[in-house]
Amino acid sequence: MDNYKINTKCVQAGYRPGNGEPRQIPIIQSTTFKYDTSEDMGKLFDLQATGYFYTRLQNPTNDFVAAKIAALEGGSAAMLTSSGQAANFFAIFNICECGGHIVASSSIYGGTFNLIAVTLKKMGISVTFVSPTASEEELDKAFQENTKAVFGETIANPALTVLDIETYAKAAHKHGVPLIIDNTFPTPVNCRPIEWGADIVTHSTTKYMDGHGAGVGGAIVDSGKFDWMAHKEKFPGLCTPDESYHGITYVEQFGLQGAFITKCTAQLMRDFGCIQSPQNAFLLNLGLESLHVRMPRHVENGQAVAEFLSSHPKIEKVNYSGLKSDKYYALAQKYLPNGGCGVVSFEIKGGRHAAEEFMKRLKLAAIETHVADARTCCLCPSTSTHRQLTDEQLVAAGIPAGLVRLSCGLEDKEDLINDLKQALDF
Ligand SMILES: *Cc1c(COP(=O)(O)O)cnc(C)c1O
Repeated sequence: MDNYKINTKCVQAGYRPGNGEPRQIPIIQSTTFKYDTSEDMGKLFDLQATGYFYTRLQNPTNDFVAAKIAALEGGSAAMLTSSGQAANFFAIFNICECGGHIVASSSIYGGTFNLIAVTLKKMGISVTFVSPTASEEELDKAFQENTKAVFGETIANPALTVLDIETYAKAAHKHGVPLIIDNTFPTPVNCRPIEWGADIVTHSTTKYMDGHGAGVGGAIVDSGKFDWMAHKEKFPGLCTPDESYHGITYVEQFGLQGAFITKCTAQLMRDFGCIQSPQNAFLLNLGLESLHVRMPRHVENGQAVAEFLSSHPKIEKVNYSGLKSDKYYALAQKYLPNGGCGVVSFEIKGGRHAAEEFMKRLKLAAIETHVADARTCCLCPSTSTHRQLTDEQLVAAGIPAGLVRLSCGLEDKEDLINDLKQALDF
């Protein structure tokens, strides 16, 4: 499928049925797989033959869908996980263990921030946070002897900052470590971080990839380009024998293209078991089949709504990188020339009371802890996800009390704007 455009890959990459086989991806709803001899199965356990033996590690339905996501991102291999949280945890923990350190953008999803700053810390992994637009010099200063990876989000949820991917990639490579990018918001339809130097790409497929609010899931894609062996001393897990797999050295056995995902499956999926159910992988694939048709509409609606809001007297400020006035406009022009996503955030004059009143009056946009859905939804962080914070703490966190995050769905943009118009009329 390599020679086809992304629109074609969304529809047909991954699963290529043979003569007389099902046209749609079969849901292999089986925990286990049958073998004729113990020798046959033994080869699988030793990673000497490829095949399936237990769905906690791998399942054919999941692998078809993962192959499609690898093709969309331009990667060499991919795997599905049970959630976006699991994807980011696995992507980091596969190369960074107790005693390691990572450099991460400070503007990332709250769940990932907590994962890195609290839970990974308990596991002995430390972090230095830097600005998403940090200069090369600022990034340089964040690295330590024990740094194993750099992490950032193309468009951060919910801050909507745009990451300077090329600068981040350059700094990571200068220090001999890979760049991991969470590409959930733009999806590969609007940005392919590997083309800008990223080495590993992660997704919460729960968002636009599924796109219908149907299934929680995640994905990890490896570019296959990072030369682990050139930095052997930093990545012993990939470059020296794994005693839990009869002394296999992943890079030697599976090459640069397969080592990262094979190790991640063989060790982390085996031990943590955060597998996506084949049923959810099937639903995810249905979403992917129309991703290239849906994303431009999400962007069109996001842009129209952002423009409408930025000229409304009751609105203090709008964050959307497609607006010329936005701080991230120039970076978005570079990395997201076809637009970023349908999520817009804005501050209503009058604080949390005004935000509550406005949201209560919306008829199309529902109040939900969710984004990137076919149906428009909204959330006020100060009265939901961040409600334990005082007004002062909210300001310090860069979240004004009157901030609303609106995820523009696939409805007609005129209807969405009319809904906002009547809801602001109080
Ligand atoms: C939602 C989200 C996650 C977490 O994904 P889940 O599927 O909810 O576990 C991670 N990163 C980003 C950018 C997200 O938006």
